[in-house]
Amino acid sequence: MDDSPDPARDRQLGLDRPIDRRDFLNGLAIGIGALGSLSPAEVWRAGVGQPPADYPPARTGLRGSHDGAFENAHRLRDGLAPAEWRQPTARNERYDLIVVGAGISGLAAAHFYRKAAGPNARILILDNHDDFGGHARRTEFTVGGRTLIGYGGTQSIDGPSHYSTVSKALLRELAIDTEVFRQAYDQEYFASRGLSHGTFFDRATFGEDRLVPKPDNLSWRDFAARTPLSAEARRALVRLNTERRDYLPGRTPEQKLALLRMTSYRDYLTKNAGVPASLLPYFQSATHGYYGVGIDAVPAADCWGLGYPGFDGLALPDDTSRLGRTAAHSHDEPYIFHFPDGNASIARLLVRGLIPGTLDGSTMQDIVTARARYDRLDTPASRVRLRLNSTVVNVAHSRPGGTGDVSVTYVQDGKAWRVRAAKCVLACWHGVIPHLCPELPAAQKDALRYGVKVPLLYTNVALRNWTSLAALGVHSVDAPGSYWSETSVDYPVSLGDYRFAKGPADPVILFMMRTPCKPGLPARDQHRLGRAELLGTAYATYERQVRGQLQRMFGKGGFDPARDIAGITVNRWSHGYAYEYNSLWDPDWPEGSQPCVVARQQRGNIAIANSDAGAYAYTDSAIDQAWRAVQELR
Ligand SMILES: Cc1cc2nc3c(=O)[nH]c(=O)nc-3n(C[C@H](O)[C@H](O)[C@H](O)COP(=O)(O)OP(=O)(O)OC[C@H]3O[C@@H](n4cnc5c(N)ncnc54)[C@H](O)[C@@H]3O)c2cc1C
Repeated sequence: MDDSPDPARDRQLGLDRPIDRRDFLNGLAIGIGALGSLSPAEVWRAGVGQPPADYPPARTGLRGSHDGAFENAHRLRDGLAPAEWRQPTARNERYDLIVVGAGISGLAAAHFYRKAAGPNARILILDNHDDFGGHARRTEFTVGGRTLIGYGGTQSIDGPSHYSTVSKALLRELAIDTEVFRQAYDQEYFASRGLSHGTFFDRATFGEDRLVPKPDNLSWRDFAARTPLSAEARRALVRLNTERRDYLPGRTPEQKLALLRMTSYRDYLTKNAGVPASLLPYFQSATHGYYGVGIDAVPAADCWGLGYPGFDGLALPDDTSRLGRTAAHSHDEPYIFHFPDGNASIARLLVRGLIPGTLDGSTMQDIVTARARYDRLDTPASRVRLRLNSTVVNVAHSRPGGTGDVSVTYVQDGKAWRVRAAKCVLACWHGVIPHLCPELPAAQKDALRYGVKVPLLYTNVALRNWTSLAALGVHSVDAPGSYWSETSVDYPVSLGDYRFAKGPADPVILFMMRTPCKPGLPARDQHRLGRAELLGTAYATYERQVRGQLQRMFGKGGFDPARDIAGITVNRWSHGYAYEYNSLWDPDWPEGSQPCVVARQQRGNIAIANSDAGAYAYTDSAIDQAWRAVQELR
């Protein structure tokens, strides 16, 4: 099995190989002396001047919520806060605004506040991680002298035309023109190379290991015939995808929608659409990417909204207003609005605007290869300061009744410090706020605890080449029964000085996703148990699972994990997506009384942002909530 250490197998998989993490000058035909004659773009492309070990985006291994970032918050949660935290050392620093959390919401809050208060506003942003951006995290690898840029979390600007006026305006202020992606993202890249999506059927779930590509021109009948599914399961798969049957006869469209809201997709498939149990594993992980749980915990109505098979003959009303927000969100735009580092570019553009000297340039193109100067984030010379590795453990008004300055205690390098500000935005996730801010009313604390964030693993695997995938005719693979349920070659985006791989012989980043869900339980319990799994799993286990699964999926195309893998970064998001309400598990609250609304109430000089405040796990929610929080304080 892939998850148990076996020295011989580990050697075969390459677990003993030093991963090529920092071969800064490897493969270069030029000497250091020649660098002076190269333009910055050429230097970048050559991979010279690569990030040193203290450059967070280049750190590999276990990232995301990395070791050292969360332990202090957990101490606070468990009532194990050391006594010293109650007597912090006062820093002689007073700000107009302190923001807790340097994710997109916190950075946007700083941006909005400064825009309203003027350039002299003094702002401090605190974050517990060693990098800024929150989920919007950049990763870099150096392979054969080339720099590869990837995303460790927040992937893309999803449906920008549906962003609010506020979010659209912020993108414009950051010089982001989403139309640029229509050129930058090569939408023919994979199709022009004859590469398609595929499914990996694994031995433990489906009886044998088999990778089956599904090019657009392959019929469902021919695809089904190539799978190891039983004859009965194949027939059902073809029927679901090709026939327009009404699986809910005798009901009005309204009644059908009401039933689908209260029925999981899994139950709908078996109880209404007559799908045999043997086909269910094929669909089980279809909802992982959006929901972090499988089809047992997602309403069938949402799956209809997302275009999953089995609904074409139901003549449902053209009304998505009663679906969960992800499903109701219109999916009428292509998924191409992607910077090479995902929405980390949005975070980097915000930091560039807030703190002069941190990132050179002025456009959405040059931000891609601009290298952040981490030593400039927190200097007394700057009116806006961003302090990393700083876990906030207490936020309190200095006077009773939510008045006076706000005093903020944070722990950095084991020492507790106190800073003060006139105002404070808590742009950290909701679950931590009751622990930080004891003065909030009990009902608000309960509401803050309601949503359970979705745990996820986003893993980046740097490959020296991907000829094995090309030989098998695939660029992305769903593996419904496997440890990693999604694997895909990075998005083919070339922007500014950054160029995507010319072809399969070039190095590339492979994205792998796991959602540690526990099918059969209510969604929030699945998230809680999944989080425990993530925090209890060692990096070596993830690496073994990466190498083992890639070999099984692509070995027949010549993939050799020991030879082909150049680097691995496992982004562990134990507190991932904001919890989105779901008609299977959550009541239909009247508008305005949802937990997120109760939770985000301002108290005196403290306001609450973060995507959790919108119960919607998207960048526009993070921005919109930041805007609201800042308006409240002003
Ligand atoms: C894996 C993944 C992929 C995603 N993909 C997309 C996507 O493609 N498109 C999209 O629109 N959205 C995506 N999202 C949703 C994403 O969460 C939002 O888009 C947005 O980035 C959230 O920003 P935020 O500032 O609200 O929260 P966060 O990014 O979580 O930032 C909050 C910050 O506060 C910090 N913090 C918490 N407690 C403390 C404390 N006590 N002291 C100091 N700091 C603290 C946190 O560590 C974190 O750094 C994705 C999320 C995840 C996890």
